[in-house]
Amino acid sequence: MVLTKQKPAKEPRSVTILGSTGSVGRNTVDLILRHPGDYVVEALTGNSNVPLLAEQARQLRPRLAVVANSDAYAALKDELSGSGIEVAAGPEALVDAASRPAEWVMAAIVGIAGLQPTLAAIRRGATVALANKECLVSAGAVMMGEVQRCGAVLLPVDSEHNAIFQVLDRSQVDHVEKIILTASGGPFREMGRDAMAKATCKQALAHPNWSMGAKISIDSATMMNKGLELIEAFHLFPVPEERIEILVHPQSVVHSLVAYEDGSVLAQLGSPDMRTPIAYTLAWPRRIATPAPRLSLHELGTLTFEAPDAERFPALNLARKALRLGGNAPTILNAANEEAVVSFLDERIGFLDIGEVVEETLAGIPSRPVRTLEDVFEADAAARESARRAVSNLSERP
Ligand code: NAD
Ligand code: MG
Repeated sequence: MVLTKQKPAKEPRSVTILGSTGSVGRNTVDLILRHPGDYVVEALTGNSNVPLLAEQARQLRPRLAVVANSDAYAALKDELSGSGIEVAAGPEALVDAASRPAEWVMAAIVGIAGLQPTLAAIRRGATVALANKECLVSAGAVMMGEVQRCGAVLLPVDSEHNAIFQVLDRSQVDHVEKIILTASGGPFREMGRDAMAKATCKQALAHPNWSMGAKISIDSATMMNKGLELIEAFHLFPVPEERIEILVHPQSVVHSLVAYEDGSVLAQLGSPDMRTPIAYTLAWPRRIATPAPRLSLHELGTLTFEAPDAERFPALNLARKALRLGGNAPTILNAANEEAVVSFLDERIGFLDIGEVVEETLAGIPSRPVRTLEDVFEADAAARESARRAVSNLSERP
């Protein structure tokens, strides 16, 4: 009898999802459940949504489930008792989750809270799918330095950066004329300044194309999201700031473009569904199937493009200014914006005050170089304090 050599079975990829209970996290869980046998889950983390985290843990069987909010520990422990899944809580447990040996880590925590866990994954040389743009904006140079030093791989999840990642030929970067980041323009694309001044949270949260978490939805309404993405693109791709453009494209079908010096412009298209860019990073360098709605260009008929309006959306120029200033300016911009968005969601300030708070904070803190993580945290803390003062002044207006 001749023994035929068995093909070795493909090893499942071990993965960790930081922020699994959020919008990007839930989409990541959805994809993993659609590809049974291809992934094993090392750790899942959430902030305080215990019922959802426990449900995800029961479905995906991670070794570890972490809640960032320590008050939620007992409830999670209770939900997962007898499951064999280890349970932990608190910011250090998040770093521990990221440090466990998963090959691929989804960084989908929102805000600077994601910085330390994301860095922990980078420092052990993991493949990091980066959704959490705030940490790259805030600590860009430090983070990219660690990626280099530790041999980590950073895969952009943000749809625009994922598009550029897909179409940028790194061997030809000297021949790139510009990168064009597309922006939907958000829910207030056509609204006048007077109406924007009175805009409610509900209006600002209602994004026309994408379903996302609250923070990024507000950032899309102010267009600070595109400002943050400009800074994100600057760190991810070897193209100078003056060659990164922003183009409003209300249908969110062309996710971004790269223009070369021979006149060619390459773009990645798809329906606005985050599972497409997430899947690209999850399977990278392969591709896997997703249930994202298929793009039907003949049904869409028309795609439109317009220049951004920097008058109505001052966040665009503020972000560009912060990037040009360099040093601690992007850290200050990000921290002030995080504080201002929370205050708007708490209905303490108006919609246009968000930009005011960021502008005032950026102008009020002296420029300093950022060399270490301590420099980042120092600038972040100073900016938050200053932004809170600006919020108090604005909220005490008669
Ligand atoms: P979300 O608010 O829906 O989810 C955030 C996740 O972070 C949740 O799991 C939450 O529990 C966790 N979290 C919140 N505060 C935390 C804290 N202090 N400590 C630990 N965990 C905490 O946000 P989202 O829309 O999924 O966005 C996540 C990140 O991805 C953001 O940086 C956002 O800019 C980026 N992003 C999101 C989308 C999108 O479509 N939602 C697209 C591109 C980029
Ligand atoms: Mg984006």
